[in-house]
Amino acid sequence: MIYFDNAATAKVDPKVLETYVKLVNELIGNPASAHGLGLKSLNYLERARKQIARTLKLKNKEIVFTSGASESNNLGIKGFALRNIKTGKHLITSTVEHASVLKVFQDLEKEGFEVTYLPVDNNGQISLDQLEKSLRKDTILVSLMGVNNETGAIFPIEKISEIIKSNSRAIFMSDLTQAIGKVKVNLNLIDMFSMSSHKVCGLKSSGLLAYNANLKIKPQILGGGQEKGLRSGTDNTPLDCSLATALRLYMGSFEERYAKAKELKNYLVDELKKFGENEIRFISPQDSCSPFILNFSLLHYKASVLVEALSRREVYVSTKSACSSHTSGSSYVLEAMGFPSNISSNAIRLSFEGTEDLEQGKQFMQILREETKKLERI
Ligand code: PMP
Repeated sequence: MIYFDNAATAKVDPKVLETYVKLVNELIGNPASAHGLGLKSLNYLERARKQIARTLKLKNKEIVFTSGASESNNLGIKGFALRNIKTGKHLITSTVEHASVLKVFQDLEKEGFEVTYLPVDNNGQISLDQLEKSLRKDTILVSLMGVNNETGAIFPIEKISEIIKSNSRAIFMSDLTQAIGKVKVNLNLIDMFSMSSHKVCGLKSSGLLAYNANLKIKPQILGGGQEKGLRSGTDNTPLDCSLATALRLYMGSFEERYAKAKELKNYLVDELKKFGENEIRFISPQDSCSPFILNFSLLHYKASVLVEALSRREVYVSTKSACSSHTSGSSYVLEAMGFPSNISSNAIRLSFEGTEDLEQGKQFMQILREETKKLERI
């Protein structure tokens, strides 16, 4: 099997699962209970938070455990905007954010907010000049992702942070789901960020929102007041601890995985180029791109048919992001980058774990060549 769909979800690291299973049996108490078993769970929960802060080198950030990046984006963006509406009603984001960001902004427009959606160029980059010009006295939040989940394009977090800080009072939120442990980011330049455990070889339905301790956020789930009142519901302590383990292991292997992913991606780009200019378009930009994502379009093959054909050979890749792959039509991210529909509706996304060897790349190329020969050309 060749699994090149790690941006959709990655395999669970056995050590993460081990932590989870061990703690499920050990931490039976509710961390909100006042007795010894409850206190033991609470102790582990707070230790997990501290360990994550240490692993990610966070300074003065609060961490709220959530069910993943979608929930974190909803809580962070909506919660901050609604709580700070009296300070200003203008928000900024980009046209290529994940649906769990874009749809929140669309919803906030209905609540009376004005949103600037920054366009991107053919490389998936916003204009920093346009960002600066878009900032206003009443801008309270700018949300720009770290790494695009479809193309791998990296937004320049340091420059963005500097522009926001020197020209406005707005906070900088970033969806770092495809960035954490995959590219270098100084997290302390960001006021609030989201991430997801299953993208760092952890378990699904687990993630976090980290934010500067002084920020005011409106809770999105009301109830018993867990997670600093922002996210009610009994904490899943073993799951939260397993996220701490996943992050520790993933961050610990960063350099190694980065180098391997880069080598594999470079190899595949060189091999894919051999299809010829009339056959293939690379969508992932050459510069400022994550080595973990390679997006291209084979112009004469329908991507959905090719993905199916590869799947029958146990080669697993995506067309667009997994979250929108069941909706027909082309990718809004690729459309926003200005690609015509024959390209934007036929994109293939490969995404790596950073543990694959070149042999897998060679096998992939062989199977791709065999399958394209069998398929009808469009
Ligand atoms: N943001 C980005 C950039 C993503 O790639 C994803 C996952 N596809 C999400 C948010 C949502 O993550 P989750 O599945 O944990 O809700």
